[in-house]
Formats: sequence, C-alpha cells, structure tokens
Amino acid sequence: MSRNHDVVIIGGGVIGASIAWWLARMGATDVAVIERDFSYRDASTALSAASIRVQFSNPVNVAISKFGAAFIREFASLFPQDAGAHDLGLRENGYLFIANNARQAEIIRQNNSIQTEMGAQVELLEPADLQRRFPFLDIENVVLASHGLRDEGWFDNMGLLNGLKELGKSLGVNYLEGEAVSLAKHDERLTEVVLANGDRLGGGCFVNAAGPRARLVARMAGVDLPIEARKRTTFVFQTPDAPPPDAPLIVAPTGVYVRPEGAYWMGAAHPDPDPAVDHDDFMPRYDEFDHVLWPRLAELGPVFHAMRMKRAWAGHYAYNLLDQNAIVGKYPDLENFYLASGFSGHGLQQAPAIGRGMAELILNGGYTSLDLTELGVERIIEKRPFPERNVV
Ligand SMILES: Cc1cc2nc3c(=O)[nH]c(=O)nc-3n(C[C@H](O)[C@H](O)[C@H](O)COP(=O)(O)OP(=O)(O)OC[C@H]3O[C@@H](n4cnc5c(N)ncnc54)[C@H](O)[C@@H]3O)c2cc1C
Repeated sequence: MSRNHDVVIIGGGVIGASIAWWLARMGATDVAVIERDFSYRDASTALSAASIRVQFSNPVNVAISKFGAAFIREFASLFPQDAGAHDLGLRENGYLFIANNARQAEIIRQNNSIQTEMGAQVELLEPADLQRRFPFLDIENVVLASHGLRDEGWFDNMGLLNGLKELGKSLGVNYLEGEAVSLAKHDERLTEVVLANGDRLGGGCFVNAAGPRARLVARMAGVDLPIEARKRTTFVFQTPDAPPPDAPLIVAPTGVYVRPEGAYWMGAAHPDPDPAVDHDDFMPRYDEFDHVLWPRLAELGPVFHAMRMKRAWAGHYAYNLLDQNAIVGKYPDLENFYLASGFSGHGLQQAPAIGRGMAELILNGGYTSLDLTELGVERIIEKRPFPERNVV
C-alpha cells in the first residue's frame, strides 16, 4: 500500500502526538503519525516520572516549562463539554533542590536569579526556613535550598498523551500502527518511509519523534545523532509514615530524586556507570535501591531510614551525549527532515511547547511564539553544547 501525506511523523509518543495536534490546530489537513506499538509499553512517555519544573538554568528551558505548566493546568478546557475526564491532576507541590556546599549553593543562587527574571516563582530557603517549611527533612548539612511555588509538580503523563491523540484525531490526524524501517531519499529530500509490513508512505516532510530510537530513524536518512538509550530505574516504595501532603519533589545534593506517589514515594538515582543499553532492555536495576537510592535518601532525614520497595520499572532516556538537552529543528543538510528528540529526561513537560514550535517551523519556516533556535540541530553538528546546568 502506498499513500502520500503532507507531514509524516515517525513516533507517536507525547512529542509526536503534540506536534501532530499543533500542526492540525494551525491548519495542516494531512498529517500522519506512525507508531510501532500503540500499547506504549516501552515508550519513555509511559515510563516517565511525569514531573514538571521551571528550575532550569537556561531561559529557554524555563520558558518552555512555564508554557507547559499552563498548558497542563488548562488541558481539560481544550475538550468541549469535558466533565473533568481530561483533567491532568497537576499537583503543584514544587521541586526542592538542596545544596550541601558553597559551590552548589552558588549555582542555586545563580539559577534562581535567571528563573526569577523569567517570571518563575521560586523561593530560596536558608536551612532554618527549610526546617520550618518541611520539618521532615534533616537540615544538618544543608547550606541552601530552592523551592518552586508554582508551575512545578507532577501530573498524569498518559492523560496528556491520550488527550493529545484524541484532540489530533478530532482534527483529522491519521494514527497508523507500523514500524518505520527505511527512508527513501532523492537528492536532498526525503520522499518515502517504508514500514516493516512493506507499506510505503510518501510525505512532503518527515519528523523524527522516535524518542530513544531517534538515532536509528536518523540513520535511515543517512544522518548520525549523538543520542543513546540510557536506562533509568524508577522505584515506588513505602515508608512507615505516608508522605506529608505538601512534600515536594526533592532533588538531593547527591543527585537522587524522590517525590510522593499517592501513599508511597517514587524515586530514582543517576546510575554510575551509565552505559548505553539495548533498545529492548527494560530489566530494572534492582540493586540501585539498596546500594544507591536508600543510603542517599536516608541522608535527607529519618523519614527515609526505613524504605520498603513496592515495585520498580526501567525506562529509557533519549540521552543526548553532547549536552543532555532537546534537539529540535530541521536537519540543515536535508530540505524536509525534522527532529525532536534527545530530551534526556525532561521531554514530557516540554511536549506542549516543542509541539507548538515544531508546527510553526514546519508550517511557517520559523518560530513565531517561543524561539527554540538554541535547541537546534546545528549546535550538535558544530559540537557547541547548549548551556543548561540543571539536568536531573
Ligand atoms: C524513567 C524516566 C523518567 C522520566 N521523568 C520525566 C519527568 O519527570 N519529566 C519529564 O518532563 N520527562 C521525563 N522523562 C522524559 C520523558 O518521558 C521523555 O523525554 C518524553 O516522554 C519523550 O517523548 P517522546 O515522544 O520523544 O518519546 P517516546 O515516548 O519514547 O515515544 C517515541 C515513540 O516512537 C516510537 N517509535 C520509535 N521508533 C519507531 C519507528 N521506527 N517506527 C515507528 N515508531 C517508532 C516508539 O514506539 C515510541 O512510542 C523521563 C523518562 C524516563 C525514561
């Protein structure tokens, strides 16, 4: 079977779904999304910690998340006659970054001045303030902390993906199940994507939104991208007392993070070493719970001295080796090949702004709302890292 579409998006996770909906909303009438597995069993979107923060160090990332938070908060209003079914349950308990030494504290202060300049509501907490605000934390080694008062917390990740799909379909976006296995090229233009079942889809332009598999898709167009699948194991665990209702997502000075998950907690560590993994390897690294997560969280306070694991899963970051930030834009050497991947652990919250930006770029040839040029492919080719200090 062969068909032509104006835009063919490879990958129907939250990024592909967002781009597709924004395109349709801005007037594109023939958008197709190809997704290899509609169960989303292995998709980063489904395996995410589903959190959002404005505490980045680069103004573009702050602006992206501010837009994302407003979008998530108001998501249900996009559905006519919604009776609350599409509410994404954004819980704005904030992120809490903790510094244990002067160097970390200085970075928090510098980041805070950028965040505040960008209109983000983030408070700095001296140890005594921290103790008053979150008495369950041990402040003995704390030098400074920063806490987001708005636009930070966690929400329903699959609600966002499914809602974007529903909205897109209502405007005519075609979702097709199939795996892209090759791309045909004529001169500097991609012409067709070939699916594993032999079907071929022609397109005016093609978007690589394949998440951790983006490098494989880019290779089909003869392009190499420094993106690897890196495994992150998330643990849900119980403590003797349930999390306090106002507990934030805490990023410890040692890099581990933890947040409430209903009556439990959810947390993860940054693995060391952190090798690239096979795209089908989703075996959790259970040993991280006892050897990394527990000792590091125990340093935060007695609340984490006794932790009982309830469940764990592994997901893949689309890890951008150059600078652990999104790569979005058009590939300069090809006339009609766009990329949106490399999000390295913060792509869910970026989906609303990235979808809007990519749709503007494809339809208008440039960004008209928020300028995403800094996140473009050119920096990757020129090996010019995007400066962002707050990667979790
Ligand atoms: C453990 C973990 C925790 C995270 N926590 C957060 C967080 O708290 N906040 C946050 O903002 N982000 C977080 N992230 C990152 C976030 O989940 C991702 O950046 C985001 O979901 C990326 O969406 P995506 O659509 O690019 O990728 P995916 O959701 O992986 O979607 C890509 C889709 O492309 C499909 N695909 C791939 N290859 C092909 C092909 N050849 N043909 C057809 N289809 C194909 C896949 O099946 C997949 O469904 C986390 C990620 C992980 C793994």
